Amino acid sequence: MPELPDVQVFREYLDATSLHQRIARVDVRREKVLENLSARALQQRLAGRSLESTRRHGKHLFVRVGDDGWLVLHFGMTGYPDYSSAEDPPRHTRVLLRFDNGFHLAYVSQRMIGRLDWTDDPGEFIERHRLGIDALDDRLDAGRFREAIGRKRGSIKSALMDQGTIAGLGNVYTDEILFQAGVHPRAAASDMDATTLTEIHRQMRRVVQSAIKARAQPERMPKDFLTPRRGADDATCPRCGKPLEREKVSGRTAYFCPTCQAMH
Ligand SMILES: [Zn+2]
Repeated sequence: MPELPDVQVFREYLDATSLHQRIARVDVRREKVLENLSARALQQRLAGRSLESTRRHGKHLFVRVGDDGWLVLHFGMTGYPDYSSAEDPPRHTRVLLRFDNGFHLAYVSQRMIGRLDWTDDPGEFIERHRLGIDALDDRLDAGRFREAIGRKRGSIKSALMDQGTIAGLGNVYTDEILFQAGVHPRAAASDMDATTLTEIHRQMRRVVQSAIKARAQPERMPKDFLTPRRGADDATCPRCGKPLEREKVSGRTAYFCPTCQAMH
C-alpha cells in the first residue's frame, strides 16, 4: 500500500514527466474513483489546462491545475501513476489524462480504493480530512512527537498509523520503524518512556528518508531492513537470524522479531 515514501516517489515521477503540458482530454473509465466530482466536471477542469506543480501531505498528492485549484490523488491499496505514450495504458487504468504531445498519465488502481478529488486549497483539505502533521515535517521534532504519541491509547503501532496524529505511515513502514527501534508493535504507546519515544522518532525519520532514497523499492533498501523480508513464509530477522513473527495488530499483519523486539 502506498505510504509516504511511495507517494513521494510518485510525486517526483509526476514532476519529472507530466508538468507544464497541455491536457487535450480526460478519459474517465471508472467514475467510482472520483470523489465529489463527476467525470464531466473533471473534464471541464482539466481540458486545455496543464499540471503546474505538486505537493504531498502524508499519503495524499496534490497537483496544481492551471491556477484554478488542485487535483488530489490518493492511491489506496495498490494505486500508482503511469506516464507513457504506449497505445494501451496499464490494466486497471481508471482515469487517463491525454496530453497534446501524445503521452498520457494514467491513474491506475486495481482495487479502486484510491480516490481522485478536487480542492481549491490543500490546507483546507488537510484540515477537513483531519490529517495530522506530515511525518517528515520539520516542525514534528522529538518533543512534539513524544507529546502526540505518548498520549495515545492502544498499541504503538496503531498510534503511528493513525493519520489524524501523524500523516504518512502505514503497515509496512511502522513495522520497519519499530523493528529499527527494537520496540514490540503491540507495546502500549502510553507506557513508553521519553528515551524510547525519542528513538522511535529518530528511526521514523531515518526509515522514511532511507525508503525514499531507495525509491521505495524493498530490494534497494539497507541490508538491515525488515521490509525486503516481508511476505516470505520463512522470513528471518536481519539482525539475529531467528524467524520473524506475524501477528494481527489493529487489523493489519505486523511483522516483527520476538527476540529483538521483546515485550517488556
Ligand atoms: Zn531479531
